[in-house]
Amino acid sequence: MKRPKIDHAAATLELRASGLEPVEPYPGVTSKPFAVRCIQPKCKGHVEPFPAYLSVVRSLAKKGRVGCVHCNKRHRANQRRTDMIRLGNMLPMVEIPDVKTAVRSWCLRCWRICEPGPRLDNIKNGKQGGCEHCGGKRRLSDDVARQRAREWGYSPDPDIPYTNDATKWPGRCLAKGHYCEPVLNSQKRQGPCESCADHGFKPHLPAILYLVVKPDLVAAKIGICEDSPKNRRLYEHALNGWITIETMRFAVGADARRVETALVQSWRARNLQPVLDNGYGYEGYTETVSLNATQVSEIWPAVVGIAERVLATPHVPLGPAR
Ligand SMILES: [Zn+2]
Ligand SMILES: [Zn+2]
Ligand SMILES: [Zn+2]
Repeated sequence: MKRPKIDHAAATLELRASGLEPVEPYPGVTSKPFAVRCIQPKCKGHVEPFPAYLSVVRSLAKKGRVGCVHCNKRHRANQRRTDMIRLGNMLPMVEIPDVKTAVRSWCLRCWRICEPGPRLDNIKNGKQGGCEHCGGKRRLSDDVARQRAREWGYSPDPDIPYTNDATKWPGRCLAKGHYCEPVLNSQKRQGPCESCADHGFKPHLPAILYLVVKPDLVAAKIGICEDSPKNRRLYEHALNGWITIETMRFAVGADARRVETALVQSWRARNLQPVLDNGYGYEGYTETVSLNATQVSEIWPAVVGIAERVLATPHVPLGPAR
């Protein structure tokens, strides 16, 4: 049924109920625009009148919304903000223009800032947790995570709860019962157990620590590999232009790794960065240092010093005794 035609006074009453007031006479029909403004003194729509159709104002009112475009926009932005806090546990630091825009946010769990931050659509559809630091990527329930881990080939320590897919979660491999501490999100790339892995280094078996240099990169590299006749690591390095300078044998691979780690940490602590190849990383580049910044003759004595300390400290067993 058609509504009767209304006059300016009646239109003014209707607008008022939707939070608007006319700034020019009502044109007499609902399908013609006329200038109105918002009755909220602080709204942009109050200062800057805008054209409105009474028909549109009515349909907005049916949905419980006010007639002001600016108030509606703000209302939707507030709704997105509330969703971000409630669903993602993230406090947005800027207005959220739409669900597809990454928003700089503050994590309400770990209080770190995420930049560029999460997208609300991803939080809503479960593709993304809120925070990239404390378990953003994917959070599973403890039960589901343990199930995944077993399918992958290891059993997480029953006393250690699941944190997130990017945090080391110690346990034992199902094949041999080795202690291992993989992160769940590497399950597509490799097996869970380093001792079982077939990449030429096993923490419980003899290993070689080596120093190689590559003249065209002006880089030195420290590395570890298994100490066995079938070890091809140094041979492969040679094919790639790396020249072996020194090697040191270790009865247990884990000790070689501790020396390697300590040496690389000492470089980074002195702000000596890894060497890229034309701006790109390559296999093992994270264990390199520029020979413009240090000299080969300094590196090996440092290795020997660290190794003495490592071998003098009683080996801290990895994980609980079996
Ligand atoms: Zn308004
Ligand atoms: Zn966090
Ligand atoms: Zn294993």
